[in-house]
Amino acid sequence: MSNYKLLTPGPLTTTEAVKQEMLKDRCTWDDDYKNVTQVIRKQLLALAHVEEPEYTTVLMQGSGSFVVESVLTTAIGDNDKVLILTNGAYGERIVEMANVLKLQHVVYSVPYDEQPSSLEVQAFLEKDASITHVAVVHCETTTGILNPIKEIGEVVHLFDKTFIVDAMSSFGGVPMDVSNLHIDFCISSANKCIQGVPGFGFVIANTKALEKCKGQARSVALDLYSQWEVMKQDGKWRFTSPTHVVAAFAKALEELIDEGGIDARHKRYAHNNHILRSRLSVLGFEAYVSKELQSPIITTFLFPHNEFTFEHFYQEMKKAGFVIYPGKLTDVDTFRIGNIGDIHEEDMLTLCEVIENYMVVKTNEN
Ligand SMILES: *Cc1c(COP(=O)(O)O)cnc(C)c1O
Repeated sequence: MSNYKLLTPGPLTTTEAVKQEMLKDRCTWDDDYKNVTQVIRKQLLALAHVEEPEYTTVLMQGSGSFVVESVLTTAIGDNDKVLILTNGAYGERIVEMANVLKLQHVVYSVPYDEQPSSLEVQAFLEKDASITHVAVVHCETTTGILNPIKEIGEVVHLFDKTFIVDAMSSFGGVPMDVSNLHIDFCISSANKCIQGVPGFGFVIANTKALEKCKGQARSVALDLYSQWEVMKQDGKWRFTSPTHVVAAFAKALEELIDEGGIDARHKRYAHNNHILRSRLSVLGFEAYVSKELQSPIITTFLFPHNEFTFEHFYQEMKKAGFVIYPGKLTDVDTFRIGNIGDIHEEDMLTLCEVIENYMVVKTNEN
């Protein structure tokens, strides 16, 4: 298999050092390993600008969706009701989970290229006093739009509700002060902006909000409270933990800190994204999301003309060493290019040159 760079929303291109960490076998109940978990939990709190005992971290096996489902089933009780904001597939996945878990819920949807409005959230909360929780996706990876969690968080806080944020594709790549944003459950995973490999996710939780959840989960394996009860003692995972993935993640966190923390990583991602958007715009690729709403994570582009096919473009990019991502919109033809992971200015410049050549060759053929 040839080696290509992943320009996707995860799993991402990781560094050699992160991959190297996975060459050792580790014992789950040995102190060495449990300490790795405890260090990770501490570092994640620091990245979120929060501290114990107000906040705590719980790691959970599975991909990001497992962790979202774990928070929903654990935090939302039988007498609770969650307001779910959607402007993309990941918000809709939360609705799907709420349906399967039989959670009382209401949905506030806006078109995929628009942000939900905090005023509208306020109207929902004023109208329906039975709403206890609000859930929103921070970076909607479907399109790459960044949602205004600060404004929404202020309203949620004003009404004293519990705030759940799916920050899967933004945490680690976009600076976030979890306590100032009034987030009670901030969810992310190992294989996004922290630049680890897939296998587990984590929740930065307001301790008081988590303490209220005992016995509420309608799942054994996804019970976030029970997971926390065991893990908070000494770093022991309740069931088999993905040891190789956890070790790689510890290395990825070290590298994030060495890079200069989230601010520096955000700068690199934003620079990558700027190169991509500006160079492709010259070639006639229009971005689906306007510049002001665009995240520095992933960009959705419209097809430049009718003869353009994703399959051909994809194969040519792959030959040149880059794997891109299909679009996820039903009404318009799009594709996506991610710019997170161990991806740097030179990668973006090479990619843009490859796309420029592709467009010239295709134009001459037609
Ligand atoms: C990646 C991602 C998820 C989780 O997806 P998995 O395929 O389960 O890892 C959830 N929400 C958002 C916004 C994401 O980008």
